[in-house]
Amino acid sequence: MSGPAKKRAKLRCVLKLLTDSYGPPMPMRRRQVVDVLIGTILSQNTNGANSSEAFRDLKHRFATWDHAADAPVGEIRRCIHSGGLSRIKAPRIRKILRDIRAARGEVSLEHLRDVPPPTAYQYLIGFDGVGPKTALCVMLFALGMEVFPVDTHVGRITRRLGLLPQGAGAQKAHEHLTPLIPPEARYPMHLLLIAHGRAVCRAQNPLCRRCVLLRLCPHARRGPGGCDPSSKRNRNAVHKG
Ligand code: SF4
Repeated sequence: MSGPAKKRAKLRCVLKLLTDSYGPPMPMRRRQVVDVLIGTILSQNTNGANSSEAFRDLKHRFATWDHAADAPVGEIRRCIHSGGLSRIKAPRIRKILRDIRAARGEVSLEHLRDVPPPTAYQYLIGFDGVGPKTALCVMLFALGMEVFPVDTHVGRITRRLGLLPQGAGAQKAHEHLTPLIPPEARYPMHLLLIAHGRAVCRAQNPLCRRCVLLRLCPHARRGPGGCDPSSKRNRNAVHKG
C-alpha cells in the first residue's frame, strides 16, 4: 500500500474505533450562517463552555445582528467578556457585521448556501480574523459542505497518529487530510476527534493506556492512564454540532 492508501486505511480504522467508543455524532441542525460565523470566532483560542456563554450573552443582549452592528464596541466587549480575548474579538465581530451589511444590504450570509465550496471559502476568508479553520467550520456546520476543518484537537491527534507531517500549519493540515477522508466521513471524523482530544488524547498527559487508538499510535505513552473512553462521560463529550 502507498503512503496515502495506508493513511486512508488508518483513518477508516480511527473513525470506526471512535464511533464504537463515543457513538455516532448527532445529525447537524440547521443554523443561520452568521450565527455560526460569530460563534466560531468566539470559540477561537478558548474552550467550548466559555465561547458558548459569550455567544448566548451576545444573542441575549442584541435582538438582531443589525443591532450589534450599530452598538459601541465596548458594549459588545462586555457581552463577550466570558469568552476571553474580548478586546480583540469585539471590534473584529462588529467590523464583520458591518462589512456584511455594507456588501449585502443586510446582516445575512444565507446566500452562501447557493454557491460552490471554493466560492464560499474565498468569501469567508476575506473577512478580517477569519482563517482557514474558521471558514471551514462555517462551511461544515452552517452550509453542510463536506469539508474538514483542522482545529487544535484534530491537528494534535492526527500528528500523534502519524497522519500529518510535523509542523504542518493550519492551511497545509486541512489540505493534507481532506483528500484522505471520504466526504461523508468528514463531519463525524471532525467531531469524534475533538471529543477524543478533550477526553483522552489531551495536549498534556494523554491517557494512552486507555486509548482506543493505542495500537495505531506511534506516539503512545505506555504509562498508567486514568480514563475509560467507553464511559458515559466520554460518550457525552461528543460535540453535537
Ligand atoms: S495513544 Fe496516546 S497519543 Fe496516541 S492517540 Fe491515543 S491518547 Fe493520543
